[in-house]
Amino acid sequence: MKLHDPALMTALLDGELKGWRRWYVRRHVARCPTCAVEYRLQRHARDLLRQHPPRHHMPDSPDFFWSKVRNEINQRGATPVAVPNPRLSLADWIWLRPLALPAVAATLAILLATVTLLQLRPAPPAKSPPVASRVITATSPVPNSVATAFHSDAAEATVIWVSGLPWTPDMTEMQTLFANLDT
Ligand SMILES: [Zn+2]
Repeated sequence: MKLHDPALMTALLDGELKGWRRWYVRRHVARCPTCAVEYRLQRHARDLLRQHPPRHHMPDSPDFFWSKVRNEINQRGATPVAVPNPRLSLADWIWLRPLALPAVAATLAILLATVTLLQLRPAPPAKSPPVASRVITATSPVPNSVATAFHSDAAEATVIWVSGLPWTPDMTEMQTLFANLDT
């Protein structure tokens, strides 16, 4: 029999140990501080559970409940689960999704329009140095994403980079996603 085994404390509390095993484990618990602590902790947990029986009860029988869970798993088994990605750099993002560039371009175009509508235009050019670029960060209309506008007077161009966009596998889905933002 293995010494200092928490499973033995459980068996002792469950009344599963008989004869010399029970005698031996009880004697060990009485002499070993480590196992005595384990035994008291387990007994305490049991007392607490007994004093506070669970208030929630299953509407279904356990068998039916688990069969529902099993069905759910079977149905969703093939569906990938969306896990939030860590923030990636632009290079990482493109490297990971080489086919995503058209979608990104469309996204940028849509967000450029959106940001213009939100009147997040950069300050008048007169107040800024001629070659300087301005960077404006704003919460984008897409949940959990941030739009950053890089404006260059010299290039007369504004690039809007959006981080934290949800990933869609194709353009149609991307368009649907953004079309629904206004509603
Ligand atoms: Zn022990």
